[in-house]
Amino acid sequence: MMKFKPTENGFYGEFGGAFIPEMLYPNVKELQEKYLDIIYSDEFQKAFKDLLKDYVGRPTPLFYSSNLSALLGAQIYLKREDLNHTGAHKINNAIGQVLLAKKLNKKRIIAETGAGQHGVATATACALLNIECVIFMGEIDIQRQKPNVERMQMLGAKVVAATSGSKTLKDATNEAIREWINNPVDTHYVIGSVVGPHPFPDMVTRFQSIISEEIRVQLSEKTGNPDPDYVIACIGGGSNAIGAFYHFIDNGKTKLIAVEAGGEGVTSGKTAATIALGKKGIIHGSKTYLIQTNDGQIFEPHSISAGLDYPGIGPVHAYLHDKGSVEVVSVTDKEALDAAFQLTKLDGIMPALESAHALAHLTKMNLNKKDVVVVNLSGRGDKDMQTFQKHHSHEE
Ligand SMILES: *Cc1c(COP(=O)(O)O)cnc(C)c1O
Repeated sequence: MMKFKPTENGFYGEFGGAFIPEMLYPNVKELQEKYLDIIYSDEFQKAFKDLLKDYVGRPTPLFYSSNLSALLGAQIYLKREDLNHTGAHKINNAIGQVLLAKKLNKKRIIAETGAGQHGVATATACALLNIECVIFMGEIDIQRQKPNVERMQMLGAKVVAATSGSKTLKDATNEAIREWINNPVDTHYVIGSVVGPHPFPDMVTRFQSIISEEIRVQLSEKTGNPDPDYVIACIGGGSNAIGAFYHFIDNGKTKLIAVEAGGEGVTSGKTAATIALGKKGIIHGSKTYLIQTNDGQIFEPHSISAGLDYPGIGPVHAYLHDKGSVEVVSVTDKEALDAAFQLTKLDGIMPALESAHALAHLTKMNLNKKDVVVVNLSGRGDKDMQTFQKHHSHEE
């Protein structure tokens, strides 16, 4: 049941599309023409669903947190994407796209990664499905994220350093696109969020929509009603958020809240709050909001969580925000850290710093005892241990 989708050319209102160099046209066109037929074939659906169940560990639990509920005076549920294989929602999309690439007879997978989470998810899917994997990563991120680089290499992927620009995520993305242009026939580019040219935002949305599909079934079982009053998710590019929102969009009941990374504050110059600050423009092949400097260059974003450290936002979110279907708020580094420590002590669940942004917004809401709130816990916090330790010793 996919009631919400872009136009045939990949537009959500004025956002989206496929603004790509001509050299990329054959690859993107092939995907646009084939992705829906492949994804909705019986054979693909069976292979995908079987892997989500037996390999990823879906459905992920919907946990009623009686501790948070008592503290906040509402009915709080946590969607446990942190319990997925490799520790976050990203594996849902990586498996979907690598399966698709095999159906397209591709021999090689390339991907970009910032903190390494999408790189690890993609390298994992490639190991399982036995296909060559090359991951592009900024030179600075390679130094900052050593454990994930070693994980990717152990999984059999080749990690290539992007040495241009600021040597971080957007430069890795540029390198991956360049590589794809040079290998139009045998290579598939696995984009890690609902960004990039059409059909990537729609394709990734479809793979991640399993999250809200499961929430509806699980909430029905627990409360007798599939539709909560609120769903809250953090937003970098926007894949976990659209997955958690998808089946509730414009249902007349559920308020959808996306939480951006405020960094050190929206007006501090060290932030990744795209909707709060962004202007319309084109980034990585689609029209959306992005943070720009005064002379129109892409702004170097900052967030304590590497997964939210992106200067753009998926076009679907630009559209849903402008239309009033999703409320977008922001949370600072400090607020996210506090929320991560709180949930760890309260429930024994250590969330990813990204997910902690969604949790942090809870305390700012005006909640009623009967309100049913679902927070999408997009990933687990093991990867953030160094950051947690640094700040823990400060606090004591
Ligand atoms: C990558 C990541 C995010 C941000 O990506 P989205 O596409 O916005 O979901 C959020 N949470 C975790 C745990 C991540 O690894």
